[in-house]
Amino acid sequence: MKEQIEYKVFGSNVATVLRGLRKRGIDASEVGEGWATFSAPRPSPQEKMLEEFLTQFRAKKPTLIDRLNAFGTGGYVPLEVCRNISREYSEEEINAAEALHLLIEERLGRAEQYGTVYDYSSVCKKCSWNYRRQVSDLVVDRAALFEPDPDTGQRPGLVDFLQTYEGHVVISGRAKEAIKGAQLTGCHVGVVRGATGDLQVVSRFQPEKIADLVSATMRWPVLDGWHHLQITGTAGRIITGPGASAVFGMRCPACTWIGEQLDSELFIHREKWDGTDWAVTTTVLGAGFEARPLVVVSKKCYVQLRKAMLTGFRVEPCTVITS
Ligand SMILES: [Zn+2]
Repeated sequence: MKEQIEYKVFGSNVATVLRGLRKRGIDASEVGEGWATFSAPRPSPQEKMLEEFLTQFRAKKPTLIDRLNAFGTGGYVPLEVCRNISREYSEEEINAAEALHLLIEERLGRAEQYGTVYDYSSVCKKCSWNYRRQVSDLVVDRAALFEPDPDTGQRPGLVDFLQTYEGHVVISGRAKEAIKGAQLTGCHVGVVRGATGDLQVVSRFQPEKIADLVSATMRWPVLDGWHHLQITGTAGRIITGPGASAVFGMRCPACTWIGEQLDSELFIHREKWDGTDWAVTTTVLGAGFEARPLVVVSKKCYVQLRKAMLTGFRVEPCTVITS
């Protein structure tokens, strides 16, 4: 397994950071105005150096010159840092895993914005970031499924797995056939509706109107050839700590919200996993409306998805621990 950390930075100190990194032999390039990316193998001396170097800029107080330079450009932001850790596996490493963490490309935007209705009454009062309950059919942006991406020109219909920002999984007809054909457990295949136009998020603050909002979603047509994969199996909480999963971010003391992202491989308890072919963790990761559980699939499921040559996802080994 090869692990790499990628940093994406922006802010008033980007130009200085880039100069400093080039001097230290790190190939850093500007991707857009005031945006830069660079990466390092993990763990490595370069990673350590980058962490220290970036911390120093994030803490930097603005000088008068900084303030003048930032005038009219949105103000002085020392340095915003996004980090993304990626891993590459050999086929043998994947084949040796008992369960797999399934990661699906996000291509569908925010379902709530297109009318999907949620009941927020059970959202955690402490962090307000816990999972919400979907009460209408899944409604997504019709254009995202049938029209090419304006930035990349890529046609969404060319993949079999897609997801919304909230983590709802949408699958192609081919994927549905493969899942049904292999009698995979822990999932239902439901309808997905396609809305057109840019709509408003309305359900959150109007609990008394939920029934009306749900019936309003019925005006959008059920999409042909696309389905909502509802995952019902459970994989329990993720195991964190040394020798288990590492998360980046905070932990809510009152609910199952933990961290903003998973930095490592996924670890789960054998007794808490119901052994279904499709399961989600009870732990929810990510902030705000992007909070979602992680998807765990059985070895059998993965073999079937590969056999059907389905696309739009990747997998990492998921370690199942017997305690
Ligand atoms: Zn909470």
